Amino acid sequence: MAKYIFVTGGVTSSLGKGIFAASLAKLLQARGYRVTIQKFDPYINVDPGTLNPYEHGECYVTEDGAETDLDLGHYERFLNIPTSQANNVTTGRVYQTVINKEREGAYLGKTVQVIPHITDEIKHRMLMLGKTGEYDIVITEIGGTVGDIEALPYIETLRQIRWELDEHDTLVCHLTLIPYLKSAKELKTKPTQHSVKELQTIGVRPDILVCRTEMPMTDEMRKKLALFCNVNRDSVIQALDVESIYVVPLEMQKEKADITVLKKLQLPFDKPSDLTKWNVFVEKLRNPQHEVRIGLVGKYIELQDAYKSIHESFIHAGTLHECKVIVEPIHSEHIDSQNVNSKLAHLDGVLVAPGFGNRGIEGKIDAIKYVRENNIPFFGICLGMQCAVIEFARNVLGMKNAHSTEMEPDTPFPVIDMMAEQKTIKNKGGTMRLGAYRCDLTPNSIAIGLYKDEHISERHRHRYEFNNTYLEQFEKAGMLATGKNPDTGLVEIVEIPSHPYFIGVQFHPELKSTVYNPHPLFAGLIGAALKYKASKN
Ligand code: GLN
Repeated sequence: MAKYIFVTGGVTSSLGKGIFAASLAKLLQARGYRVTIQKFDPYINVDPGTLNPYEHGECYVTEDGAETDLDLGHYERFLNIPTSQANNVTTGRVYQTVINKEREGAYLGKTVQVIPHITDEIKHRMLMLGKTGEYDIVITEIGGTVGDIEALPYIETLRQIRWELDEHDTLVCHLTLIPYLKSAKELKTKPTQHSVKELQTIGVRPDILVCRTEMPMTDEMRKKLALFCNVNRDSVIQALDVESIYVVPLEMQKEKADITVLKKLQLPFDKPSDLTKWNVFVEKLRNPQHEVRIGLVGKYIELQDAYKSIHESFIHAGTLHECKVIVEPIHSEHIDSQNVNSKLAHLDGVLVAPGFGNRGIEGKIDAIKYVRENNIPFFGICLGMQCAVIEFARNVLGMKNAHSTEMEPDTPFPVIDMMAEQKTIKNKGGTMRLGAYRCDLTPNSIAIGLYKDEHISERHRHRYEFNNTYLEQFEKAGMLATGKNPDTGLVEIVEIPSHPYFIGVQFHPELKSTVYNPHPLFAGLIGAALKYKASKN
């Protein structure tokens, strides 16, 4: 049976529980353990697919087509193994299951209650991955902050699991903030003591404290925290602010977080830790030899989390080229045909982001026209690819008012149209074309040159597609479909071979880029941007 590590958060949100969980998992993986991470989110949406990116950041899609929390992206990028539907559970999903069972008559004669019915369902899901035999250790991140009303059923379930399983089979890491008071020139431990107290009133004593801090903690402070929070001295782990999330595993290693955890779980901790590849990555990340500036054109640019995986993919691909990628966010609503030159002329490449709805669409199209005509490397993802198709139709094929039927249902040239199977769908939640689908690449395309494979598989999240009625016209005029789904003929990739780097993809490559496997198309964009920059000088 697997061992279970739980990660809770105290004091404030946004302390980086996901990054800590992923870093700890990385260290355990580096010692040869099979580890997975799951996240429990206390909101009532069944999944984050129906949330606006401003609310909750990007929606991360797994291979099996689950719309999940963006922390799952960190888990995959750190561990280099895929997650699935089972790795992300929300309160909405838990209640939906229990209510469906109630309707089926599974609890006939009984009053259905939070305890035991909701907590039993949470427990079943918390323990599930550990029972598959695929993992030695399951790390469970509990979303929200201890003390939140919504988080209570999760903490109660965790208390029960601790009580039911053997003492050395579970462990709780509590992540807190040690604020620095400028006026007093002091780090303060009191909020941490209070949040541990809060956790203890619900019957859970943390084994390990992970303390987020902007200043190094003294030995005295560590002792004080250990004493008042009831943990061992070596169980107070400092998590100092660092320049990159990819440095966190190395910091956690310095703090011996992995050894402390393994000792407590009574697992062998003398297996050597192999982080060679990770260290090489961080070394390159810290010492770039080149620099490029890429414009990220989108409508959610105020919030970095909205395009989390894209930002991380740039870091992976940049590091591969020993190149620092400066990502310049550009609001698509602020671009028009008059100012596009001043917004884009200084860039070495442009990525047009995914998205939904009409807002900012014309700015994306103006940006694409500019980069196409000026030979600036371009990469369009999902809606970004669809905009490239619309732009080409309007400005090269002369199809005035060509559009996607998502934005303009009555357009005379519906070059992007709703997929046939989507037309009868009424419910919005979980009904897009989601998850991994196959794609075959055309010989001699840019794509095949980068993937070095004719058959690929990528993840999706969309309802609209390239309208194949127009394909011949596009190809004759120089925009080729170089990747297609082998079963349906759906256009997955478009390219303009006469341009140095012009690629649009219907899928989301950013969801598959990891530290150990930077995505070939992002790597291609950075390579092209470096060449373009050199050609300007
Ligand atoms: N809105 C477009 C569609 O549904 C693009 C979606 C996306 O960019 N993820 O097809």
